[in-house]
Amino acid sequence: MSETIFSKIIDREIPADIIYEDDLCLAFKDVNPQAPTHFLVIPKKPIPKLSDAEQGDKALLGHLLLVAGQVAGEQGLEDFRLNVNNGAGASQTVFHLHVHVLGGRPFSWPPG
Ligand code: AMP
Repeated sequence: MSETIFSKIIDREIPADIIYEDDLCLAFKDVNPQAPTHFLVIPKKPIPKLSDAEQGDKALLGHLLLVAGQVAGEQGLEDFRLNVNNGAGASQTVFHLHVHVLGGRPFSWPPG
């Protein structure tokens, strides 16, 4: 997979407001927040998009969701929304899998 802005954040080549890190993943504040709280959870493994994940990534994908919920709580969120854009047609712009976590305002359904 080619280098992305997120792999540069993992490698500390560019700065980010990192709020969680473990051996498998990283969470950092989105630079262009769409809600009062908006952070991203990314695997350190460079999976371009969700549909590229494989059976062997099952535990990693579960870990990303658990971390998203845990860090949301640490950020003071009780209600929050998770979003994963898969592919350019779904508004994915950075091709390194990431879970958006948004909170601090009401969310409508269905999403736009
Ligand atoms: P997506 O459209 O799902 O690919 O989301 C990519 C997200 O990455 C967007 O919400 C951007 O605001 C965010 N983003 C891009 N560059 C950075 C960066 N250097 N630090 C933090 N967030 C970023």
